[in-house]
Amino acid sequence: MKVILLGPPGAGKGTQAQFITEKYGIPQISTGDMLRSAVKAGTELGLKVKDIMASGGLVSDEIIIALVKERIEQADCSNGFLFDGFPRTIPQAQALVDAGVSIEYVIEIAVDDEQIVSRLSGRRVHENSGRVYHIEHNPPKNEGLDNETQEPLIQREDDKEATIRNRLSIYHNQTKPLVEFYTQLSSTDSAGPSFSTIDGLGGLDEVQTRIVTALS
Ligand code: ADP
Ligand code: ADP
Repeated sequence: MKVILLGPPGAGKGTQAQFITEKYGIPQISTGDMLRSAVKAGTELGLKVKDIMASGGLVSDEIIIALVKERIEQADCSNGFLFDGFPRTIPQAQALVDAGVSIEYVIEIAVDDEQIVSRLSGRRVHENSGRVYHIEHNPPKNEGLDNETQEPLIQREDDKEATIRNRLSIYHNQTKPLVEFYTQLSSTDSAGPSFSTIDGLGGLDEVQTRIVTALS
């Protein structure tokens, strides 16, 4: 199964991805997590993308497309994968079509901007695994510590209010047009994906149920 989770930063893509990958046995491919590991490891790629990520801007399509193409060649992707945070621009989506990667499901998780600001400012993450928490809506068992490893959680550099607004504006300009792109593709191409929009508000379980319905 090949799935794309679309939606603004903070819509809950990473949170729901964790559950989908377990339920359907496919790996999560988060370009954000991949880039953050490169920054942390100080690789050539990491050095190239560090500043743009900190400002909330988008990394170039060329870099992202090369990164994803290499990733989906790996053995664990043979039964499919879940994209979280990719594609984020029309050229990225078009690159998938051109490479003959046929996606079965595209699910847009819709959340309004004000809710996003509150979600992202309370977001805490476990850096090594990418596991996501929220100080109020999805707190860890022990405050400030990851449930599995008990290592400390961090607040991301780019989860500050001014950067969040910048990321939202980029989302509306560059990523939101993908809704139209996939709506078109699903209606004109018989091998195109099934496209659905689900409401991202409500408890984690409620959102999960909506996703399971969209995937069946
Ligand atoms: P969020 O989960 O908050 O939406 P991500 O972890 O997906 O954020 O992405 C963090 C940052 O990594 C983005 O602000 C951007 O700089 C970069 N990034 C991640 N994925 C992409 C992509 N597909 N195209 C361009 N930049 C990306
Ligand atoms: P994305 O990957 O789309 O950027 P995340 O999964 O990282 O989003 O979620 C952003 C923040 O919102 C996290 O702190 C997460 O715990 C919280 N969150 C996720 N789903 C919900 C929900 N249904 N209700 C409230 N908060 C949520």
